[in-house]
Amino acid sequence: MHDWTLDEFVVPEVEGKTRFHDFALPLPIMRAIDKLGYEYCTPIQSDALPFALSDYDVTGQAQTGTGKTAAFLIALLTRFWENPLQETPPLGAPRALILAPTRELALQIEGDAKALSKYMDERTVCVVGGMDMQKQRERLTKKPVDLLIGTPGRLIDFLNRNDVSLKHVEVLVIDEADRMLDMGFIPDVRRIVYQTPHKRRRQTLFFSATFNEEVMRLADSWTINPEHIVVEPEQVATDTVDQKFWLIGNKEKDAALLKLFAHAKTERAIVFTNRRDQTHRVVKFLQKQNIQCEALAGDIPQRKRLATLNRFKEGNLKYLIATDVAGRGIHVDGVTHVVNYELPEDPEDYVHRIGRTGRAGADGTSISFVAEDDAFNLPAIEEYLGMKVDCTLPDDI
Ligand code: AMP
Repeated sequence: MHDWTLDEFVVPEVEGKTRFHDFALPLPIMRAIDKLGYEYCTPIQSDALPFALSDYDVTGQAQTGTGKTAAFLIALLTRFWENPLQETPPLGAPRALILAPTRELALQIEGDAKALSKYMDERTVCVVGGMDMQKQRERLTKKPVDLLIGTPGRLIDFLNRNDVSLKHVEVLVIDEADRMLDMGFIPDVRRIVYQTPHKRRRQTLFFSATFNEEVMRLADSWTINPEHIVVEPEQVATDTVDQKFWLIGNKEKDAALLKLFAHAKTERAIVFTNRRDQTHRVVKFLQKQNIQCEALAGDIPQRKRLATLNRFKEGNLKYLIATDVAGRGIHVDGVTHVVNYELPEDPEDYVHRIGRTGRAGADGTSISFVAEDDAFNLPAIEEYLGMKVDCTLPDDI
């Protein structure tokens, strides 16, 4: 077998940047990081890893697109590697548990976990609603599991059936706590957290895009003296995304979209609408014009949504038309354009949307259509971004 050494993963030292090499991570993890093509840590990684790797609790204010998933996965996989179990654990008793609000996010984390543990002997299982429960049960009950990822509802089903025991959990990760709150999952999450060992006897890594009072209260009750790390949303949004705002009439939006898609530079785009009916209408319109696109909205069956997302990821589908809820979980590199067919009411949604492009250091463009109705939502976005935006006539595309 080919013996991989760190000599094969050369990253020059650069002032102001942190390399993964600087953390003395286990070789199999470094090899996986190399294989994924990461070179330098993202800010949340360089800030969180020193604490997470030293067993401290961390609360991180970070959105998707910041590299937070790799930050917590690297920490817990390093723990697994450095503290191997002496005995085979009972079935269904994971060493680490990651809770995520949506299936899409949970599956995304599962994919990242599998990639990062590719050269380790760890077993990851993901349990989410809307997918075959029996199959997930088999995965849980056939072989021991090291890392369990799940959405709260489905995990509770398994806990109720005694297929899962959380007594051996060493690391608990709670991802997107603010969305768990919005979606009404906190009572479920609380029940789950109470089945893990006491917070003094586990490490807790808690992430949320926002930290309002309610989220802080949760963080306080589930962590001990956490290191609080903040990655400003502006950093995510504005660094690598060229944000354009086009003044346009409501009736001109469809034509502008067509023109944009006729342009060769729009290689892969996500169009956001505020409501599902609008999503479906835009898809119908574009398909009539022979433009291959698909909808990603909450009323589409999970299986179909995943298939659509996979085709988009693999480059077999160029355009996605999505609502905010369905669009948040999209973690695809190489999205060249995000189009806001309508401006969202919530400025956080705006930042989430445009964060789908300009990922992993690549450049991206966001184009927001600003019709009369949309203009009402602009001041809040400007305030959130901390800058005035420049509305122009549509580019001559
Ligand atoms: P996340 O915020 O966890 O959704 O990650 C955003 C994206 O960045 C994912 O596609 C990761 O694969 C990628 N990523 C994470 N860490 C790094 C890194 N250090 N360098 C480059 N890309 C990264």
